[in-house]
Amino acid sequence: MKNQNKPNKPISLIINDAQDYKQKLEFAYQKWSEHDFDNRWLDMLEKHWIPSYDVYNFINLLKARRDLPEEEYKIKEEKIIKDFEVINKMTDDFFKIMKAEKEAFDKAGIKEGTVTYTCPLCGGTAVAVRYVHNGRTGGLGSHCTKCGFSHT
Ligand SMILES: [Zn+2]
Repeated sequence: MKNQNKPNKPISLIINDAQDYKQKLEFAYQKWSEHDFDNRWLDMLEKHWIPSYDVYNFINLLKARRDLPEEEYKIKEEKIIKDFEVINKMTDDFFKIMKAEKEAFDKAGIKEGTVTYTCPLCGGTAVAVRYVHNGRTGGLGSHCTKCGFSHT
């Protein structure tokens, strides 16, 4: 393995998808094993990241892999990566919708009111409703008529 002379090189926890998650877990686990599974190494790694649910799960999985029988660990890993995928997709979808809505409002040349646009998730007709209150923009009843995605 490369970079063995740089043990403190931080491991990125920007994870793209399930495969990436597994690769990063594997990489971190190998690195940790090179440090004889020293908990201080893990603490250092944890402190390097901004605390989040994902970081918590990632660290927990590393510990579980060390401590649990392989079968038990695999079940845990599968569950956490599945959760990650679900949340990741939700966040992704939300950003896609927000981007499409912004473009629809920009195109219409208005800051509040109602616009329709093509839903980036299903291609159906989506409706975005915005209002401005005390200088802040809010959404109200924005939804897709086909796939049912909605947000306020
Ligand atoms: Zn849709």
